[in-house]
Amino acid sequence: MVTGLFSHSACFAHDTGEGHPECPERLRAVLARLEAEEFLYLDRREAPRATAEQITRVHPGDFVDRVLRSIPTNGLRYVDGDTVVSPGSGEAALRAAGAVCAAVDAVMQGDLRNAFCAIRPPGHHAEPDQAMGFCLFNNVAIGAQHARAQWGLRRVAVIDFDVHHGNGTQAAFAAEPDLFYASTHQYPLYPGTGAAHEKGVAENIVNLPLRAFAGSAEFRSAVEKVLLPKLEGFAPELILISAGFDGHISDPLAQMQLLDQDYYWVTEQLLKVAEKTARGRVVSALEGGYDLNALASAVAAHVRALMLA
Ligand SMILES: [Zn+2]
Repeated sequence: MVTGLFSHSACFAHDTGEGHPECPERLRAVLARLEAEEFLYLDRREAPRATAEQITRVHPGDFVDRVLRSIPTNGLRYVDGDTVVSPGSGEAALRAAGAVCAAVDAVMQGDLRNAFCAIRPPGHHAEPDQAMGFCLFNNVAIGAQHARAQWGLRRVAVIDFDVHHGNGTQAAFAAEPDLFYASTHQYPLYPGTGAAHEKGVAENIVNLPLRAFAGSAEFRSAVEKVLLPKLEGFAPELILISAGFDGHISDPLAQMQLLDQDYYWVTEQLLKVAEKTARGRVVSALEGGYDLNALASAVAAHVRALMLA
């Protein structure tokens, strides 16, 4: 069984305007890097659109309508101070969420070993009723609820190593004891949530705030000493990864100092837990990462680890 790569050309047409860090070039850089020979055996698949049924397992129907109605027929429109939509954004958002659901289906069917979704807009800041922080729909939360509704899984975990806290995923999971969310992130930083005392109804939320300029040692220590034991204790039947690469030392949006090999390492660790409790089932989705070269090489390290599982 091989690793899947889900994407869609519609994700390039989500235009955020000149100079916006969450730009189509990010996805071009990622996909160009995954054209290298070592990635020849990725199973490349086109992402379908998420259905209304899939999205409304996380977001209320009136919110979904509001987001889709906010898409302009020309030009750009600001959803909040830094979240921009253009005529292609609705289709991109549907394909991004659809990629994660389709990847869950393929991994649950045993058709793929695991999968990476090269998608945008990202999703982890999108709360059930609030688009924000470059995010419209919460792609991984939609994938988690899809796995439960479609495949009858009970316990699903999301691990988020983006440098920002995934307030949206936490908001969607906090009251659900069978959904687990763990995040390493620079703290304090946008969006301001993610303190260690935010634990959810059943200690199903695990926040590991790290200081600005924290590097490999602090990151690995938090993952090894806290995140992995709690994840294993939760015993997920599927692990989703909010794979943001903006904790990289070269990233312009934050100050953490992670290296490509840290992304390889953390991916390997998550795969080991997945082997123990989830029959190896892992679906990863792109979140942040704003230095094009660092993003491409860190994604390559992450996908390399997925392929060697
Ligand atoms: Zn981020």
